[in-house]
Amino acid sequence: MKALVGTVVDPEGFRKNSAVLIDGPTIRGVVPVERLGDYDVDETYGGTGYLILPGLVNAHTHVAMAKLRGLGEDLPTERWLKDVIWPAELEWTPEEIGRWALLGMAEALSNGSTTINDHYFFADEIAEAARKLGIRAFIGQTVMDLVDFPIARPEEGFRFFERWKGKDELVRPTLAPHATNTVSLELMKEIGEFARERNAIIHVHVSQSTGEVREVKRRYGLSPVEYLERAGVLGEDLVGVHGIYLSPGEVNLYAKSGATLVHCSLSMAKLEGRVAPVIELAERGTNIALGNDSPNPVGLMDPFEEMRFAAVLNKVWRRRTDVATAGEVFGWATLGGARALKLKAGLIKPGYLADLVLVNARKLQFLPGKDPYSQVVYSTRGSDVELVMVNGEIVYKNGTLVTLGKTLEELWEGFRPSER
Ligand SMILES: [Zn+2]
Repeated sequence: MKALVGTVVDPEGFRKNSAVLIDGPTIRGVVPVERLGDYDVDETYGGTGYLILPGLVNAHTHVAMAKLRGLGEDLPTERWLKDVIWPAELEWTPEEIGRWALLGMAEALSNGSTTINDHYFFADEIAEAARKLGIRAFIGQTVMDLVDFPIARPEEGFRFFERWKGKDELVRPTLAPHATNTVSLELMKEIGEFARERNAIIHVHVSQSTGEVREVKRRYGLSPVEYLERAGVLGEDLVGVHGIYLSPGEVNLYAKSGATLVHCSLSMAKLEGRVAPVIELAERGTNIALGNDSPNPVGLMDPFEEMRFAAVLNKVWRRRTDVATAGEVFGWATLGGARALKLKAGLIKPGYLADLVLVNARKLQFLPGKDPYSQVVYSTRGSDVELVMVNGEIVYKNGTLVTLGKTLEELWEGFRPSER
């Protein structure tokens, strides 16, 4: 058995001087550290001053976009997407996607994300990269039929799903229609039927720009959430992303459906200068998860940064400081993501998946350490993560991607000077 020692922090509370026992892919229990000797433990990590967290679930990513980092800075979404990102994406080769996806994923993993939920092109290459790294990955092949985009053909989304269904314990396929304005109602209905027959998760961008809202209205006379309802996909298997322009009526409809909303506060603040109505959704019982979105526009795949921005931006947006508390935001980043993807994870309890993060909090910014939620959300950086465990296996430790067999620096060296 393995053991992690420190202060155990999960959305239900915290326990100081504790040890988390890990047996195979799951957590066997949490015991006071002085009782560790009663168990047959052969590997122990952490100690006084460490924090043990459930793995952070990065519930919306485009990891391969690491290659596009820094392009089209400070533009509004529609121009960023149509003038900069789409033309660059049409140049992709499968080989390049594999290389850059590995880099984006390694960045997310080493900063504490044990799970990603990715939405992109050439999804087979991304899935293979995830396997090399040992990260838990939900991956969908992006599809569109209202935009002429040869690498996003609808049939490829279904084929990718069939190829990867049941193939790997950690890498699981989803269905990934691009957005409500780039996928026709007919195709969205078809995706809904396919997903229902196979118990699949549908991962889609919703209401991320005013252009999207306008186009859906013009084409169908519907709002984006009404469109999803009409297509028969608005329900517990839907992982919707952004929701920046949801009207109060859409917030109610969305909340009633049981769908998850993934909040990517930093990416949308940068592209749209706005914050989604997640506080209103959460008040009505919607499951909220967090995502870094992608290295462009965000610049950094750090789930701690995402928590910090979610906590602060919601306060500014609502002009109230009692919303998006540290404990609540930490719950979105862990349990919220696990619920969205139907994983028994997000809590540190017996029988839960041993997807865990060990933070080295033996640093000045963690003193005096009165409130562990505050330490996690306001004082931790991804670079404070010392060890990451996925499914009970150590996949990252002290700068080394253990499963891949490379250090972060060696990975960096592997990119040609012109690419760095
Ligand atoms: Zn996105």
